[in-house]
Amino acid sequence: MLKVGVHVSISGDLFRAIDREREIGGNCGQIFSHSPRGWSFTFPSNEEAKNFRRKYRNKDVNPFVIHEAYLPNLATPKDELYKKSLKATKKEVEVAKKLDIRYINIHPGTHTGLGESKGLKKIIRSLNKLETGDGVIILLETTSGSGTMLGYSFEQISKILNETTINTGVTLDTCHSFAAGYDLSSKKAVNETLDEFDSTVGLDNLELIHLNDSKHGLGSKKDRHEHIGLGKIGEEGMKSIINNERLRDLPFVLETPENSKRGDKENIQKVKEFRENYN
Ligand code: MN
Ligand code: MN
Ligand code: ZN
Repeated sequence: MLKVGVHVSISGDLFRAIDREREIGGNCGQIFSHSPRGWSFTFPSNEEAKNFRRKYRNKDVNPFVIHEAYLPNLATPKDELYKKSLKATKKEVEVAKKLDIRYINIHPGTHTGLGESKGLKKIIRSLNKLETGDGVIILLETTSGSGTMLGYSFEQISKILNETTINTGVTLDTCHSFAAGYDLSSKKAVNETLDEFDSTVGLDNLELIHLNDSKHGLGSKKDRHEHIGLGKIGEEGMKSIINNERLRDLPFVLETPENSKRGDKENIQKVKEFRENYN
């Protein structure tokens, strides 16, 4: 069965995110657990968490993923920022447990001068401090490689996975990896990129697809998402991803723009239209 959804807002009450997803035809999705642009962290109340869990248990919208906020950076050389980042990431784990959400998607980190090797080691050390237990899996998202952001190569993702002792998996963001130089614009390119992913990271570690088209070209290192099929990955690339036998059973979560051209509902519709034998 096709699993497709978008990143939705939690405004009002957490469980509203599940309703929003249903209303636009999604059956999986992603949320921020609080406002992603600040450090202030409001834990969901027991009542709010209970309402969410009750609705989530129906499993008609599943899985839901928590995307970590934008500010935390586990690879930073700045002590103050690092402490805040580790603390914030630990809080995300607590929220996930409270909501019975299994996946937390994180951007590995930006080393801002520390260097790639030291940055990666710091990320690994930090992740090993999280008390994820059996219930929570940290998903490392592939990045575009802009600036000093880590996680743009499959080798870096693989290193983090191999050297962490907690439960981890991977989110392949199609826009990011395309911008980082992994071609996804044709059937042949998708298969070659997946071969490479499999021989480094291992496809059994791939848990989630962030399905985004890219405004900029292959290897541009620019992280600008585009509507499904309207970007540089394009219609052939998107169809090849959506129908690929190695990817088709994974959840596809869209982080596409909303503007006069299309909204979330239309992008979900487009994915269904691109899926062969959709039911
Ligand atoms: Mn992301
Ligand atoms: Mn993403
Ligand atoms: Zn992005």
